[in-house]
Amino acid sequence: MAERSDSESRKLLGRLREAMAEENAGQERLDKITTLIASSMGTEVCSIYLFRDAETLELCATQGLNPDSVHKTRLRMGEGLVGRVARRNRIINSADAPQESGFRYMPETGEESFSSFCGVPIQRLGEKLGVLVVQSKEARDYSSDEIYALEVVAMVLAEMTELGAFVGEGAALSPLHQQQVLMKGGTAQEGAAEGRVWLHEPRVVVANPIADDPEAEQGRLDTAIEELRVGVDEMLAGAAGGDKDQLQVLEAYRMFANSKGWLRRMKQDIDQGLSAEAAVEKEQSTARARMSQASDAYLRDRLHDLDDLSNRLLRILTGQGKNTGAEMPEDPILVARNIGPAELLEYGRKLKGIVLEEGSVGSHAAIVARALAIPLVIHAERITTEALNGDQIMVDGDQGLVHLRPDESVVTAFRDKIAMQANAQERYASIRDKAATTLDGTTISLQMNAGLMADLPSLEGSGAEGVGLFRTELQFLIRNQMPRRTELAKLYSHVMDSAGDKQVVFRTLDIGSDKVLPYMAPQDEPNPALGWRAIRVGLDKPGVLRMQLQALLRAAKGRPLKVMFPFIAQFDEYTAAKAEMDKAVDRERILGHAIPSELTVGAMLETPSLAFAPQKFFEEVGFISIGGNDLKQFFFAADRENERVRKRYDTLNVSFLTFIEGIANRCRSTNTPVSFCGEDAGRPIEALCLAAMGLQILSMRPASIGPVKSLLMRTNLSELRAVIEDARESGEQTVRPAVLEYLRKQSQAPR
Ligand code: PEP
Ligand code: MG
Repeated sequence: MAERSDSESRKLLGRLREAMAEENAGQERLDKITTLIASSMGTEVCSIYLFRDAETLELCATQGLNPDSVHKTRLRMGEGLVGRVARRNRIINSADAPQESGFRYMPETGEESFSSFCGVPIQRLGEKLGVLVVQSKEARDYSSDEIYALEVVAMVLAEMTELGAFVGEGAALSPLHQQQVLMKGGTAQEGAAEGRVWLHEPRVVVANPIADDPEAEQGRLDTAIEELRVGVDEMLAGAAGGDKDQLQVLEAYRMFANSKGWLRRMKQDIDQGLSAEAAVEKEQSTARARMSQASDAYLRDRLHDLDDLSNRLLRILTGQGKNTGAEMPEDPILVARNIGPAELLEYGRKLKGIVLEEGSVGSHAAIVARALAIPLVIHAERITTEALNGDQIMVDGDQGLVHLRPDESVVTAFRDKIAMQANAQERYASIRDKAATTLDGTTISLQMNAGLMADLPSLEGSGAEGVGLFRTELQFLIRNQMPRRTELAKLYSHVMDSAGDKQVVFRTLDIGSDKVLPYMAPQDEPNPALGWRAIRVGLDKPGVLRMQLQALLRAAKGRPLKVMFPFIAQFDEYTAAKAEMDKAVDRERILGHAIPSELTVGAMLETPSLAFAPQKFFEEVGFISIGGNDLKQFFFAADRENERVRKRYDTLNVSFLTFIEGIANRCRSTNTPVSFCGEDAGRPIEALCLAAMGLQILSMRPASIGPVKSLLMRTNLSELRAVIEDARESGEQTVRPAVLEYLRKQSQAPR
C-alpha cells in the first residue's frame, strides 16, 4: 500500500510541477491543482481555502463544489470544520462530517451531499496560509497514506504560495508579505526608529519543493546530514567544560542530528516526491506546530533546538548561509527571533532599532540594547515570519508598537513623532554646556550611566558631567569566558582616557539575579533576586573581585579612581570589600606600580537595610549611590522585571519619597556625597522630585540628560518642595497629581 501511494503521490507531485510550469495566472493554477488532486485521489471534491486576512479563510478554488461559491464562501478562523483545521493547525479526518462538532452547513457550496471530509492545514514554518480539503459522497475514513500524500501536497502548496505562484485578484490571492501589519509587543528600550528590515537569520527560500529523482535527493540529504553532524561535534568539542545550559543545547542538537526517526521521516517525504529541502521544511513545520501547542517548557525548548537544527540543515542544503550576499540597508532595523548580547554588540550602533519575537526586558540583549540606546520591542509575535529583508518598518519603543510595511498615514504620523523628538534633541543641544541650575539657584550634577566603551562618546554629546555608574558586568556578560586582568585593565584605562577630566564611577561586578555569566556555574536558587548576587559573590569567592580591583588600579595609572560596590546590605560587607581594596593597593605598592592619586570607595544603597546602618558606616563610606531599580523593588516587594506588579507602585509614592529623603538627610549630616543612579533618575518628573528630596547628583541614560536638565532649569525647587509637602500632609498616596498640576500651572511640563 505504502509503495503504491508513494509512487502515486510522486506522480501527483510530478503533474503538479508540470501545472506550475505552465504560464498560467494564479487562479488557473489553483483550479488545475484541485482538479488534479481530486482525480488522482478518486474523490469528488477537492478545495483550496486561503487566508484573505489573519482571521478569514476564503474558498479560492474547488473541484466538485458549486463553482459560483469560489471567492464568495468565507469562514472565520475556527468556524466550521475548515476553520477548525486552520485554528488548531491540525488535520481533521471524518467519515461522517455533518455529525462532527463544529460542522457548518454552507448551502451555497452544495456540500450537504458529501459525507466524508479530510482537511489538512497549508502552513509554512508555523505561518498559516490556508486549508486543503477533500470530500467524498461515500462515508469513508481517508487512509493514513492518503493523508500523508495530502500533507505532502499541502506542503508544496505552501511553498508555492510563498513563492507567489497563486497571486491573482482579490485579497486572498494577494501576494504574501505585502500587506501592512501592526504588531503590539513589549517595550524594552524606548525611542522611535524608522528603517528597513534586516533579518538576523534570513528566511531560507526553497525554490524547488518537488523533485523527480528521489535517489539523488536522498544522497543530498545524507551528505548534508553528515556535514551537520560534524559541525555539531565540533561545536561540542569547542564548548567542553563550558556552561551547562549551552552544553545541554548542544547535546540536544547531537541527539536530533543522529535521530533515526527524524531522518526516516525526511526520507519518507523524499520518497513521496519532495526535494530534500522541502522534506526538511515539512518536518520543521510539524515541529513548529507542536511547539506552539506544547505547554511543557522543557519540551518547548527541545522543539526549539530541533527548529534551530533544521535551519542549519536547510542552510547547508540550499547554500543560503547567514551571509546571503544581501546588502545591509542604510537604516537597518534588526529583526530576529532572539539574539545574544555578543551578536548584538557586533552590529553595534549601526542598528536603528531592534524587534524580537521573543526576548525579555531583563535579557542580556536588552541590557546591551539599553546601553546602546537602540529602541527595542520584544515579544513581537510572528515578526520573523511576516518580515522580509528590506521591508519598510517603524518601531515605537515607547509603546511597544511595530508597523511593518506601513501605509502613508502611519508613515506621516510616525515621522511627526520622530521629528518632534529630533526637535527636542536640538533644543537640548543648546543647553548642553549649561549647568542644571534651578530657578531658585540649586545646581544638580547630571551624570550618565554607561557600560560599554561605545557609550563614552555620549559623554561629550549629552553634556553629562561624568559617568556616575559604569556597569562593569557588561564586559563579563558578552564574553564566553572570564576576561583576563590585562584585558580589563586596558579597557578601563581606555574608558578613563576617553572621559578625560571627567570622573568615572566604576561599579564592581554585579552578577547574579538576572545577570548570569555563561561561564560560571549557574546557581539553582528559589529566588535569585534575593539570592547570591553582586557583592555577596564577590566576598564569598574573592578571586574575581581581587582581579577586577587590580585591573582598576592598574588602569588608573596614578590618576584619581572612584570605585563602588554593588548591593551592600550591611556595614560589614562594605568593610570587607573596602579591606579587599586596601589589600589590592598594598600589593600594587609592593609591586612598584603607580597608586591612584586619589582613591574614593563607595557603596550602592540598593536594599532598605543600608539606609538604617550605623552612623559609623555613613562616616566611613566614601560616597553612596542609590540603586533605585533594586531599592524600589525591595522597598515595595515588587519584582522590577514583573510588569504587572512593578507598575503598581509609583516612584512618587509618599512612602518611597520620604524614605529617599531620609537617606539624603542622613548623608547630609555626615557630609557623605550621595547620588541616585536608577532608571528613575532619567525620568524628568521623577528626577525633579528626587532633587526636591535633597539629591544633588543624578546619573541616567545619556539621552535623558537633556530632558531632565531642561525641566530642572525651568523649575523653582523650593516651591516644588512645598507642593510635595502639602500633598504629603494631606494624606495623598502619591504626590504625582499635585506635582503635575503645579507644573501644568507653571506651564513647565516637559516639552
Ligand atoms: C539599580 O539597581 O538601580 C542599579 C543602578 O543597578 P542595576 O540596574 O544594574 O541593578
Ligand atoms: Mg542594582
